[in-house]
Amino acid sequence: MSARLDHVATEAAEGSTEALVGLRQQRVRQILWILIASFSLLAVMNVASGHYTGAVLEGLAMLLLGIGQWRNASGASAAAARLALGTMLVVLVALMAAGEGLMDEVPIAYPALLIFAGMFGSRRLLVLATAVMLASLVAMALWHSNTVSQALSDPPLQRLVVLSIIVCVTMIFLLLVTGDVRHLVRDLEAETAALAQSNARITELAYYDELTGLPNRTMAKEHLRQLLLQLHARDARPGASVVVIFIDLDHFKTVNDSLGHDVGDELLREVAQCLKASLRPSDMVAHLSGDEFLVLLGPLDEGDTAVSAVARLMAQLAPSFMLHDMQMHVTGSLGVCVAPQDGDDVDTLLKKADLAMYEAKASGRNAFRFFDPRMDVNMLEYLQLASALRTAVEKGEMQLHYQPQLDLASGCVTGAEALLRWQHPEMGWVSPARFIPVAESSGLIHELGSWVLHRACADLRGFHDQGLAHLSVAVNVSALQFRRGHIDYKVINSLAGHDLPPGAIELEITESVLVDDSEKLDTALERLHAAGVRIAIDDFGTGYSNLGYLQRHAVRRLKIDQSFTRAMLESERADGIVHAIIEMAHCLRMEVVAEGVEDAATLARLKEAGCEFGQGFYWSPAIPAREFAAFAKARLPEPAAATLTA
Ligand code: C2E
Ligand code: MG
Ligand code: MG
Repeated sequence: MSARLDHVATEAAEGSTEALVGLRQQRVRQILWILIASFSLLAVMNVASGHYTGAVLEGLAMLLLGIGQWRNASGASAAAARLALGTMLVVLVALMAAGEGLMDEVPIAYPALLIFAGMFGSRRLLVLATAVMLASLVAMALWHSNTVSQALSDPPLQRLVVLSIIVCVTMIFLLLVTGDVRHLVRDLEAETAALAQSNARITELAYYDELTGLPNRTMAKEHLRQLLLQLHARDARPGASVVVIFIDLDHFKTVNDSLGHDVGDELLREVAQCLKASLRPSDMVAHLSGDEFLVLLGPLDEGDTAVSAVARLMAQLAPSFMLHDMQMHVTGSLGVCVAPQDGDDVDTLLKKADLAMYEAKASGRNAFRFFDPRMDVNMLEYLQLASALRTAVEKGEMQLHYQPQLDLASGCVTGAEALLRWQHPEMGWVSPARFIPVAESSGLIHELGSWVLHRACADLRGFHDQGLAHLSVAVNVSALQFRRGHIDYKVINSLAGHDLPPGAIELEITESVLVDDSEKLDTALERLHAAGVRIAIDDFGTGYSNLGYLQRHAVRRLKIDQSFTRAMLESERADGIVHAIIEMAHCLRMEVVAEGVEDAATLARLKEAGCEFGQGFYWSPAIPAREFAAFAKARLPEPAAATLTA
């Protein structure tokens, strides 16, 4: 960061020095033109009056000044100034010698020449020029006198003294003035450098991200604007495109939450370097915020494909990073859009790349998606749903329904799965398959999950109070609630608050929760197990194939996914899978619940295979609490029936 700051400051200081050099070059040019014009005039006058020697000398001066003009134009203004000064000195001395010597008017030009030396030369050059002038004056005095005593007599002596005094005084004045000017210029240069430094700092803060040193959002937007201008420029190559790639790191929040912000920051820096290394110098990678990066490629030629660039970026993220002696695997979800096809203004392109990134995330992460016009519609629906969901609990639009779970052998109801139902005033019944993912990605799942837990415990308390104390309720819990929701405390407190035995609540979690081998999950599950809360694996067989988690955690039940149950009569494979799950569960001393039982034939096949419990439309869909209580009363197990009738 500071290296770039120095570079920017040096650039700014160089800019101001360049301006000074330019000014000096301009002044030398102007003075040389004035001198050339003056000598031309003098030469014409000398020719007219028959003084050909003077005219030849002036012609020679013009030639040398012309060479000085050429040197100045090619950037060597100091050399040009020295050449002009030397020429002038030689020519003036020669004119003086050819003319009237000390009594000539030529020495009148000496102070002007000294000013020129003071302006464009060093102090040493000024003193040297003065010495040459004084020497020329003494030489003239001697030249025109036959003897030294004659030279030292009046009037040449007087003339020599007066001219020498004028030359010396001019030199002293110039030494003083140029000393002051030099001092001022030095101060000014120091001030300019300081100003450049602070300007560079401001630029740094306004356009670069402090953490990664990458350009920030403002800079990225400006760069994209420039790329789009190039795309629309008259000389743009036909078919050229600009590619905008939005990158969001997967599960970065987990790294931050579990390993701390320092590790998170370091990871972001590593990722930033990796992304930068995979791009051409003309491309840009910017850090937008948190775990979001933006890559801008272009303008690309017609043959260049965005896909190869995207594949390169994804491959760059794939290897693991060693941070704090820990191997970290980072993947990203990438959203891609291409200008001009998908839009030709900065905001539209950023929005579309963002939408595409959300689709990549929704598809299971570690993926990329190109923008598709349908995504616009999806995002609108998502936003509407998220905003309606925010107030759904307060407005009483949420209900918890119960789908009975039965003991297959006896046909008695042993409990129910609590399933959320949302009745929106305009949208009608909204399926949980639609709104649960929205609640998860918007963070509303925590609030919703707490409401479900409270409602389930309250209803269960009601069932127990009606003499249905054998019933338990299974509550679905999202992975997010486990990762960041203190679910263990909430469940244990809620059970105690409603005076319920811990075994009355079962938590249904999916395999994706259990493969996350974080310490936090282990502790939460251990605490729940120790308290007596049961855990069931929902949709078993549809998630991860690594079953190591079944050994690690105390899982009470496996729920066979309805896709297998419903297909088991038609498909041998599905039937085989159901049998295998039941066998495996029994080996591990777990119970099995079959989901999606829709007919008697499937029920018979499940019983035959040794499945203990089932739920499905064959008995009932999810129904309101009151209806469920009535349903359960009609299918009581023996001991409960005896107590209820007594
Ligand atoms: P799930 O936990 O696997 O729930 C079972 C789903 O299968 C429910 O769909 C249920 O209505 C449906 N189902 C039950 N029996 C049958 C049958 O015989 N045939 C067919 N075709 N379907 C049957 P639903 O209610 O639409 O819920 C969908 C998913 O939404 C649930 O899948 C669960 O993952 C999630 N969900 C529901 N309520 C909650 C909740 O309170 N919290 C969380 N985190 N997720 C919930
Ligand atoms: Mg479930
Ligand atoms: Mg299920």
